[in-house]
Amino acid sequence: SHPIHARIEGAVVMIGFGSIGRGTLPVLERHLDYDRDQFLVIEPAEAGCAELRQRGIAHRQVALTPDNYREVLGEVLTPGKGFCVNLSVDTSSLDLMKFCREIGVPYIDTVVEPWAGFYFDDVSNAERTNYALRQKVRDEKSANPGGTTAVSCCGANPGMVSWFVKAALLRLAEDTGTTADTPEDRAGWAKLMQTLGVKGIHIAERDTQARALPRPRDVFVNTWSVEGFIAEGFQPAELGWGTHETWFPENGRRHGKGCQAAIWLNRPGAITRVHTWCPTPGPQFGYLVTHNEAISIADYYTVGEGSWPEYRPTCHYAYHPCDDAVLSLHEMFGAGRQQQVHHILGEDEIVDGIDELGVLLFGHDKNALWYGSRLSNEETKRIAPDQNATGLQVTSAVLAGIVWALENPNAGIVETDEMDHARCLEIQTPYLGPVEAHYTDWTPLQDRWQHFPEDIDDRDPWLFRNVLAS
Ligand code: NAD
Repeated sequence: SHPIHARIEGAVVMIGFGSIGRGTLPVLERHLDYDRDQFLVIEPAEAGCAELRQRGIAHRQVALTPDNYREVLGEVLTPGKGFCVNLSVDTSSLDLMKFCREIGVPYIDTVVEPWAGFYFDDVSNAERTNYALRQKVRDEKSANPGGTTAVSCCGANPGMVSWFVKAALLRLAEDTGTTADTPEDRAGWAKLMQTLGVKGIHIAERDTQARALPRPRDVFVNTWSVEGFIAEGFQPAELGWGTHETWFPENGRRHGKGCQAAIWLNRPGAITRVHTWCPTPGPQFGYLVTHNEAISIADYYTVGEGSWPEYRPTCHYAYHPCDDAVLSLHEMFGAGRQQQVHHILGEDEIVDGIDELGVLLFGHDKNALWYGSRLSNEETKRIAPDQNATGLQVTSAVLAGIVWALENPNAGIVETDEMDHARCLEIQTPYLGPVEAHYTDWTPLQDRWQHFPEDIDDRDPWLFRNVLAS
């Protein structure tokens, strides 16, 4: 009953068999036709390899490094065909992508990851931004346009949420009686967002997945990579900087080169809180954790160029992770050191909850529209093995991205904003639980505590100044 979306000739190599790799495997097995003997995983950790051994899946127990990646990948990939699916931490997405394109192997990842050490190295905060990481990938795209497809950042977010932005824009156009054909290029999409009067977008997420046990002290608990979350949480907060903003944060910094679509704050994202909104809780605090999509979406929807274009939306992540992760962050930042024990909540220990992940388009005629997936862990267990709800939103996006790449083999380096959102969502939606649109009359100036003065500007509720929590 599972449709086969595409066939892959040659070797299919997965790098990393952590929570996302483990969940991606059954989804690929269901929907892609490839020679099972030509599937191989590269994974350094014993836990992952033990499972692969037990399941009879070919693997190489090795960590990719700047010194060995060309040799290791060169031995296992089939030049001119196959696929490389990068779901690891501590490997350079850019280097791996460049090598795959060099030998004509299509490639996909879910984040612009650097080599090990980068996030905590002694480099400037500006260099540790996702803006800097992304810009290098964009520069490579400009320097070497076209060629073998390499899909950059195709998970849930970054990834699926860019497809949701397009779906939400079409929905908003329809609901406001704005006549609009589906745009055919970047300029058309940016113009549509501008015409609809969207001031900005929160990638608004509430993860309510929980287990029965209380979180033990000194354990970092999350619903996906703890290492990945700590790394991004320690990067500076970053956001696409919209043209409606009238104020600039005191700790805000612009970038001297590149697309100029985003700014960064001289403060870690995982302790920078913003006022936001999701359907289940209504108003809530989210963390302004840096993410590639905050920059790519602001860039994609820019009308004009540089730091002062004609139009650009503000865009950032507003993430309320699962409650155990909130407590873990609190403990880690308070203690000034990382917990030694990391734990990712498995689908069978989670007793309740959903991952509600969507885009909140705000500032337009209908105030604000949240559009997204409200996938429960319970439903996830019914529809796909080996992952929780958070995982399935990511792995189904990986599947959609691979199918799109196979259908568009010479698209060069692309981000998900640049892909056909309708085709990708067609493949992914069966795995997303309820995908819903919710309008709300909430604004960041509503539901505030009145007893203490705050640095707000009530002339426009949707200014970042009002969104940023004091
Ligand atoms: P994880 O920590 O569970 O797994 C990462 C795996 O990479 C581990 O098995 C680890 O052993 C392996 N690894 C570490 N160093 C390696 C190396 N040098 N070479 C090869 N493999 C190596 O993480 P996860 O939850 O599976 O996430 C995987 C990646 O996906 C991370 O980069 C994460 O940021 C990203 N991610 C993206 C999204 C999204 O929505 N875009 C969501 C979740 C995770």
